Amino acid sequence: MPTLFTRIINRELPATIVYEDEHVVAFKDIAPVAPVHIVIVPRTEIKGLSALPDDGDHRHILNAAKTIAEQLGLTGGYRLVINEGRDGGQSVDHLHAHLLGGRKMTWPPG
Ligand code: 5GP
Repeated sequence: MPTLFTRIINRELPATIVYEDEHVVAFKDIAPVAPVHIVIVPRTEIKGLSALPDDGDHRHILNAAKTIAEQLGLTGGYRLVINEGRDGGQSVDHLHAHLLGGRKMTWPPG
């Protein structure tokens, strides 16, 4: 059964895609928590950060975040978040990072 995000990647569900390359697809979050809220998802279905293979090249989400932030003009900064597991606030079991920007972030997060 494909994940929700795989269905978005495959264009079976609608989303506003802002970036894609051979490794990742990025789209606007359906329930944004900041003026800019982009979800960056690897095309490969990895359940979450805890399921990331120990080997392999894992630069792609970070590189995509940097590129998207530049494209969106987030010159003042931004935040990249990965929620892992239920305690971490993960609700979709397909590894993804949240790119948040367009306002000043606060710390600690909720
Ligand atoms: P998580 O809670 O797993 O870290 O993040 C999942 C994110 O996916 C949430 O911010 C949620 O708003 C977003 N989301 C859930 N369903 C959809 C959808 O159908 N379309 C889009 N664009 N985002 C979604």
